[in-house]
Amino acid sequence: MRVLAVGGAGYVGSHVVRHLVSRGHLVTVLDNLSTGHAKAVEVAGKAAAGGGCAELVVGDVGDRERVGELLVSREIDAVMHFAAASLVGESMRNPAKYWRNNVGCAVELLDAMVDSGVDKIVFSSSAAVYGEPTTALISEDHAKAPTSTYGMTKLAIEHMLRGYDQAHGIRSISLRYFNAAGAHSSGEMGEAHDPETHLIPIVLRTAIGLREKVSIFGTDYPTEDGTCIRDYIHVDDLADAHLLAMDALSSGAATTAYNLGNGTGFSVLQVVRESEQAVGRPIPATREGRRAGDPAVLVASAERAASELGWSPNYTKLGDIIASAWKWHDSHPHGYS
Ligand code: UDP
Repeated sequence: MRVLAVGGAGYVGSHVVRHLVSRGHLVTVLDNLSTGHAKAVEVAGKAAAGGGCAELVVGDVGDRERVGELLVSREIDAVMHFAAASLVGESMRNPAKYWRNNVGCAVELLDAMVDSGVDKIVFSSSAAVYGEPTTALISEDHAKAPTSTYGMTKLAIEHMLRGYDQAHGIRSISLRYFNAAGAHSSGEMGEAHDPETHLIPIVLRTAIGLREKVSIFGTDYPTEDGTCIRDYIHVDDLADAHLLAMDALSSGAATTAYNLGNGTGFSVLQVVRESEQAVGRPIPATREGRRAGDPAVLVASAERAASELGWSPNYTKLGDIIASAWKWHDSHPHGYS
């Protein structure tokens, strides 16, 4: 298939591009490189097999004319939309950036799809759409009450996608990622944000000596050790789900949403301890106040993705996820640069 991967130079997007090209798909990445890396697309493209290939076009998802031109000239069959501002803390300080970048640009992207008759889209949504859970495991029909502007924008786009299906017949699958983590097994691709705000890369960069210490945000949450619990899911498992979702849409699947997680939660302190095991040395950490917008516990039920998409994660142990991330960070302390 011919796929437009919007934001495909980012962390999750570039791993999905690698999976797509290695299965013979033709991928056009549209990315403004504000947070993504041209090198990530280049590395992903080297895994191409069976006629697959990846090209990078530098541009904005909010540029409706440019997107429309690409959809037509590349004869695109399906869109994957990864591009977003995605930091919970920043979204609380600068909501306008999130409403403009995430929701505003999604309108332009969907209108470009309407203009050019492309009718399938896989959307990177988030566990942040749920807010504070009222059940131990979160299923897709759990109440949606996002605690952050970031989560609100993801939920707004899911609603928008339903509207575009009703009005224009664009079918979508929203994939609600829990905590994306880990790196490609080759060690050639991984997480590279600047500034880095995510827990596992911060812990591993501290282990390398690139940071002085890890700040543990909140030790008074109603959890066993007082720190937040999250469900860490390997980026290659997320990539598998995208290909399954694209296949489902191609076979006529209706607009829907799936959780993507392992169904097991780990606290911030457990992540630090498991990382110490993986790297074989202590990692300095200090206890600090809560970060605004963080729910205490987020753990997925991914039963629907298993039964309807046939998805099952390969990385089920936190230690294996961290070990794959360590392989990348240890060999690429400065990311792609
Ligand atoms: N966290 C932390 N210190 C950090 C970064 C994150 O204690 O330097 C915590 C954060 O408060 C959350 C968990 O680690 O409870 C995962 O945060 P991350 O930013 O990795 O992902 P998010 O859950 O926001 O998507």
